[in-house]
Amino acid sequence: MTVTAEREKALLESVPTGLLIDGEWRDASSGKTFDVKDPATGKVIASLQDANSDDAMAAFDAACAAQADWARTPAKERADILRRAYDLINERAEDFALLMTLEMGKPLAEARGEVTYGNGFLRWFSEEAGRHYGRTLTVPEGTLRMQVHHRPVGPCLLITPWNFPLAMATRKVGPAVAAGCTMVIKAAKLTPLTTQLFAQVMQEAGLPKGVLNVVAGSSASSISGPILQDRRLRKVSFTGSTPVGVRLMKDAADNVLRTSMELGGNAPLIVFEDADLDAAVEGAFAAKMRNMGEACTAANRFLVHEDVAEEFTQKFVAKLEALKPLRGTDPESTLGPIVDEGARDDIDQLVQDAVAAGGEVLTGGHKVEGDGYFYAPTAIKVEKGNPILQQEIFGPVAPIVTFSSEEEAIEMANDTEYGLASYVFTKDQARMYRVAESIEFGLMGYNVGVISNPAAPFGGVKQSGLGREGGAEGIEEYTTVQYIGIADP
Ligand code: NAD
Repeated sequence: MTVTAEREKALLESVPTGLLIDGEWRDASSGKTFDVKDPATGKVIASLQDANSDDAMAAFDAACAAQADWARTPAKERADILRRAYDLINERAEDFALLMTLEMGKPLAEARGEVTYGNGFLRWFSEEAGRHYGRTLTVPEGTLRMQVHHRPVGPCLLITPWNFPLAMATRKVGPAVAAGCTMVIKAAKLTPLTTQLFAQVMQEAGLPKGVLNVVAGSSASSISGPILQDRRLRKVSFTGSTPVGVRLMKDAADNVLRTSMELGGNAPLIVFEDADLDAAVEGAFAAKMRNMGEACTAANRFLVHEDVAEEFTQKFVAKLEALKPLRGTDPESTLGPIVDEGARDDIDQLVQDAVAAGGEVLTGGHKVEGDGYFYAPTAIKVEKGNPILQQEIFGPVAPIVTFSSEEEAIEMANDTEYGLASYVFTKDQARMYRVAESIEFGLMGYNVGVISNPAAPFGGVKQSGLGREGGAEGIEEYTTVQYIGIADP
C-alpha cells in the first residue's frame, strides 16, 4: 500500500522534537534547531532542538542523579519495563518502520525487518536482566567464602550511527537498562527521529525519569566532550567509524573509562569452488545490498574461486540489475538512496579510483540522475592490490576478485586492518572450520549472508573495535564485578 503524504506528515508531527532531560522534553538552551532531511528527496522533514554543552551536562546530571535508585530497582522491574516497551514498539511497528524510511532512506520492507531485529534487543535483554548470575564458592584454602556480584557500571554515554536508527539504539539502551545503568544517548544528526520516538516509548513503558536522557544535536563533540571529561561518567559505548572511535578512546583514557567500540568493517565474502552457487549468490546479494550496503557487516570484498568466478559473477550481476532504486515508501522500491550527498560522492570517488587502478565496471558505476542521493547498484571486477579492497565502501558497490587456493583466499581475507564480519560459502564443513580458525574476524557467516541476531554476540577485532553487543555478553559490558570475601563463621 502506498504511504500517503498525510500519513507521513501526521507521523512526523507526532515525534517529540525536544531534548529529553530528567523525564521532560525541553527546548535547547540556545534556542537553536537543526534540520533532518529525507535522503530520497533532499527535502527537510523535521527540525529538532539542537543541544549544546550546557544541555548535554544537564542531561548527564539527570543521569547521575537517577543512578543510585535505578541500580537498586529490582531486575524484574527493569525487565518488565523493557518488555512493555517491546510490546509498544510491536504495536507501533509501522510507525517506526516508516520513520526510519523517511529519515534514513531504506525501503519500507527493510525498515520493517529492522523493527523486528532492533526490538528483539529489548525482549532479549528483558529476559537477560533476571538471569544475570554471580557466583558463590569457597576459596581453595577453605578460609573464606567468596561471593562475586555484578553491579551496574554506572552512568553511560551512548553514541549511535545513522545506518540502523532503531537497532543501534536498542542494542545499547536494552542492556544498559537491564543492568541498572542510567544514560545519555546521542544519535547521529542525520537520523535522530527514531531515537526520539523510541525514548518516548520507553517513557510510556514506565522508565523512571533521568534513567534515559536524549540529546540530539548538530555538534557531536560539544555534546560528548564535557560528558567524557566528567569523573562521574563510567562508560562510553560507541558505534560508528574507526577514526571517531579512536578519538573517543583517547578521551576515555583520561577518565579511565570502560569502553565498547563497534567500529568499521571490510568484510570478505569467500566463494569456494565447491559452493552451492545459487546459495552463494543469494547470500552475497543479501550481504551486500541490505541497507544499500550501508552496514558495517556489509560484504565489501567478493573473493571468488577462479573456476566459478564467471558463473557467480553473471548470476550476481543479474540480481543487481533487477534492483529498483526508488524512494523507500514506494512499494516497488528494493534499493533506497544513500544517506546524504557527501556519502554518495565518497562512494562514487571510490569507484572512480578503482577504475583508474584497472577495475572493470560490470554494471552500475554511477549516480542515479534525479531527486535524492541514489547510487546505481554496482559490480566491479578488480585485481589484487586495487585500492577499493582496502576501503570500507558503505554503499551498493561490490568489488569481485578471484583466487586459486584456500591459502590464498585466507591470506586475502585477512589482508585488511578491519576484523568485523566475514562470510564463507563451501559445502565442505571441515574447510569452513579451517577457515574460521585462520581468519581474524569477530563474526563469520557460513553459507549465509546475514547473521545478526539479538541472542548472538556482535563485535569485531583489530580496527573494528572492542567489546560485544547482544547475546549473554551484551549485558556484561554494562556491569562491573565486585568480590566479597566472607570470613568462615
Ligand atoms: P561516525 O563515526 O561519523 O558517527 C557515529 C556517531 O558518532 C554519530 O552519532 C556522530 O554524530 C558521532 N560523532 C562523530 N564525531 C564525533 C566526535 N568527535 N565526538 C563524539 N561523537 C562523534 O559514523 P557514521 O558515519 O554515523 O556511521 C558509519 C560508520 O559506523 C561506519 O564506519 C560503520 O562501519 C560503522 N558502524 C559500525 C557498526 C558496528 O557495530 N561495528 C554498526 C554500524 C555502523
